[in-house]
Amino acid sequence: MSILTTATRMWLTRSTKPFLFQNEYDNRLPFDDCDKLGLYVHIPFCKKICSFCPYCKTLYSRELCDKYLDALLKEIHQVGSQYRGRKSATSLYFGGGTPALAADRLKEMVDAIQEHFILNEGIGIELHPDNVTPSVLWKLKEAGVTKISIGIQSFQEKFQRMLGRTNELEVSSLGKTVSEIPFETVSMDFIFALPSQTFLDLKADLDTAFQHGANHVAIYPFIDFSFASASIEPMSNREKRALLEAITCYCRERGYIRDSIWTFSKGGRAKYSSMTRDVFLGFGCSATTLLTDQFKINTFSVEEYCRRVSAGKLPTALTCRMTPRQRMVYYLFWTAYGMKIDPRNFERFFGVPLKKMYGMELKLAQWLGFLAKEKDNYIMTSEGAFSYHYYEHFYTLAYIDKMWGIMRTEAFPETIEL
Ligand code: SF4
Repeated sequence: MSILTTATRMWLTRSTKPFLFQNEYDNRLPFDDCDKLGLYVHIPFCKKICSFCPYCKTLYSRELCDKYLDALLKEIHQVGSQYRGRKSATSLYFGGGTPALAADRLKEMVDAIQEHFILNEGIGIELHPDNVTPSVLWKLKEAGVTKISIGIQSFQEKFQRMLGRTNELEVSSLGKTVSEIPFETVSMDFIFALPSQTFLDLKADLDTAFQHGANHVAIYPFIDFSFASASIEPMSNREKRALLEAITCYCRERGYIRDSIWTFSKGGRAKYSSMTRDVFLGFGCSATTLLTDQFKINTFSVEEYCRRVSAGKLPTALTCRMTPRQRMVYYLFWTAYGMKIDPRNFERFFGVPLKKMYGMELKLAQWLGFLAKEKDNYIMTSEGAFSYHYYEHFYTLAYIDKMWGIMRTEAFPETIEL
């Protein structure tokens, strides 16, 4: 593990104790008192596996998908019925995998969720470009979906090939379909920092996205996960920084506000974010659950997931019971991703003032030019945003790469220390 991430963790948690994930689970989840609860459902099937992709997915078969969806419904009811009545939640996101492969049964899942939860901020779903057809989009609408996020990665053939994508992307028909069947948020995802990729390449992609109805774009850096099979040379940090700054300026010029380190939205109104939640429940294999003092991750194995749920047990593979400082660091990490830290929200969540817990770090971040005070809030500067982006790379390799690398091969690992 990187010395940098370990040293930072020890400094910010004021302890040498690592994040310890153990093979233990509770059959009841303590979410009754959680405010602004987010919901996530993972559907891990794809028609074809892309070489760069680190997510938990498996090849689609109708039979396996149906068996999985039956288990998913069972898990939703098992967790949801723990609350008496219907619990208020923010939003519901479907990710994967390619969740649209389950479009025919999406309404069934939304209905199951709505039996136990009241959704206040709509329903989002990730789409492969191949899914953007009138028949699929109408099914999503009928199920109540309000936000779609299309994983374009690049409109350009040379980069699609580099990423192991062989589909012929019909840009004009994609744009026509999106304009005929409107959604509140139309997000398009891109990957930057691919070999030889220039700002002009990215600008061309962004222009195409803007012309074809995207009111939200996400531009993620290419990350070379050790277990993914892409053989792509990473770009230097100097080049990445120049690209990220140029993208940010261009999006701003076009009226798209930076609402997180890697996302931009038109006028700041369109939203697509499943991770930036203080607390959330995750359903399905590999889904994570974050509560007041614990983090849980479900098994990555579709077979084991179905077996565990059929036996009436929750499919949690690992549980990390966090110390208060560990929970604060986790909270601040994801809040900072959204470019703004509101000390009142921190105090509401933890019952202690942010300044009391991290006053010295906030001063240091301001002195280094990473944060600026705006009224009562701390706002990430562009210097701070790049440092975050840079640090996130270490975090991803030290934490996520390690954990996902193990979870892909062991359904229920005994313990993981991060
Ligand atoms: S990028 Fe999307 S379509 Fe490709 S393997 Fe990953 S989840 Fe499946």
